[in-house]
Amino acid sequence: MDVILAVMPLAIEVAFVLLAVAMIADWLSHRERRRAYLALAFGSLTLLILVAPSLSQSGPYGQLITDIGIVLFLLSGWALLMFRDSFISLRRSTRRAVTASLVLVAALGMVAQLPADTQQSHGPLQTFALAAILTAWGLCVIEPIVTLWLASRGRPAVEGARMRALSLGYAGMVGVIFVGTLGGELVRNPAGQFVLDLVALAMVPMLYFSFHPPVLLRRLWSQPEEEELRQGLHSLLTFSPNRVTQAQRALDWATRLVGGAGALIVDWDSSILAFRGMNGEEAEAVAADAAARPEAGEVRAPRRGATTLVIPLELQEGVASMVVVAGPFTPLFGDDELSRLRQYAGSIAASLDRVTLNVRIQDLEKAKTEFMNIASHELRGPMTVIKGYLTMLEGGSLGTLAPKAQSVLPLLIAKADEVNAMVEQMLEAARLEEGHLTLHKVKGDIVELTELAIDSVRPMLAGRELDVDAPSTPIPADVDTQRFQIVVRNLISNAIKYSPEGTPITVVVNRNGRTGKVIVIDQGIGISQHDRAKLFTKFGRIEREATLHVAGTGLGLWLSREIARMHDGDLTVDSTEGEGSTFTFEVPITSS
Ligand code: ADP
Repeated sequence: MDVILAVMPLAIEVAFVLLAVAMIADWLSHRERRRAYLALAFGSLTLLILVAPSLSQSGPYGQLITDIGIVLFLLSGWALLMFRDSFISLRRSTRRAVTASLVLVAALGMVAQLPADTQQSHGPLQTFALAAILTAWGLCVIEPIVTLWLASRGRPAVEGARMRALSLGYAGMVGVIFVGTLGGELVRNPAGQFVLDLVALAMVPMLYFSFHPPVLLRRLWSQPEEEELRQGLHSLLTFSPNRVTQAQRALDWATRLVGGAGALIVDWDSSILAFRGMNGEEAEAVAADAAARPEAGEVRAPRRGATTLVIPLELQEGVASMVVVAGPFTPLFGDDELSRLRQYAGSIAASLDRVTLNVRIQDLEKAKTEFMNIASHELRGPMTVIKGYLTMLEGGSLGTLAPKAQSVLPLLIAKADEVNAMVEQMLEAARLEEGHLTLHKVKGDIVELTELAIDSVRPMLAGRELDVDAPSTPIPADVDTQRFQIVVRNLISNAIKYSPEGTPITVVVNRNGRTGKVIVIDQGIGISQHDRAKLFTKFGRIEREATLHVAGTGLGLWLSREIARMHDGDLTVDSTEGEGSTFTFEVPITSS
């Protein structure tokens, strides 16, 4: 026990020296006022611990050392209070009053010639001076302990934990100093001394972790927050309505990550994309300040008292930057969060790029729709003229043609119909895209409408066999008669295009409960399971050797399904590759 008791003070001295050196190094590498105060607080406390063994010396230097001890002690309290003041400002008058009182108390301690040994008997002035010193120091230290603890609530996990560690560490020190000074008999015995030393020693790692927590501890502290962050990142990457909303969301998370007071994103073209925690004017000022820095990467520079942190965002168009304006605790409590912020910058850049890309794709889609609209309108006129003259030629109203010329007319008419059908698809697709496709529903008979559609594609059949299996009684349904025929025509013309000449095509019309059905069956090339995903998509053509020569827009099935669904019906497919396909078009029927 004796050995342990002898070693303990040495261990405490070494631990405090290491702590003070680390704090001073931290201050030297960051050169910030608040770090300077913290280094001063620990440095003076450490010096006090180092001179403490010499305190009981007698002789001319005995009193001098005691006086130095008093100054160091009060200085450590003052520095901690100033540290607290550097992020939660005290009133100027309070600051002055505290400093003046401490000077007075120190002077009083010197005048009273306090004995080095606190347990020694004191005169009335000495007792008063000792009480004043302890009270002044206690107030300087207890106030930040409470403030730090209270301010730690609601802050990012790691930051909050560090503040609590600092608060607890100091509370422990206060306990040790007060019990050590006023504890009397309680700490005179070896066991009491040992416990006190142990507590003092335990405070060292606590204080160290408060400004330099090891990665493991940070992870432990931030565990509950991680899941939330993951979800935040997920939503950031998944939902992207527009760049501004996206940027605002990103800033929300960025400030939470580092405990910043505000943040903004300066776009690659130097415009401010989004800001939070400040007004427009302040945002402009911070952005200008950030832009004025020639250095790449993150830079910290005090600006009107606030520290800003610039993180570059590598976007496709150029480099944007995220600027986080430090909150009261950010500069001291945040190295870990800052590195996470840098990682986070990658996700932000990716999400912003994604939105840019989405907008570009939307623009392209719009341009395509516009083109489709213009092209189909322009084609429709000439095609009507061509089809008209071909029909007149075939009917003989323009005179008699040579038999050879007459023989090619049906093919020409079929081809003109094919082009017309494609133009019609493009027009309808453009209307659908622009939200202009509205149905004009009337009471119709789907048996009759199917027959009309078959008649209109007959020229395309070119002598091919088409079986129709339809009931003799009408099947009534509320449909847009033109659009209903478009769907049936698409299905039949596909059956013609994608099945070899000798094979039959069957069209079945029937009703099943409250559903009317038009089923188009072919024995053609069929569609593989893999290709089926593409089938009802816009411009979704399936590239196959056998159908390379077949003309088409890839719009027919997409449009047909949309039309079917607008009728509260559906369009489905059942197909086996190499054997044929069955397309079923359903619409609800009207109860007559
Ligand atoms: P397209 O103008 O190309 O015919 P559609 O949207 O009507 O456009 O059809 C999309 C693709 O689906 C076609 O390119 C074709 O590959 C395939 N397809 C459509 N109908 C059939 C069918 N009856 N048999 C086999 N493949 C078909």
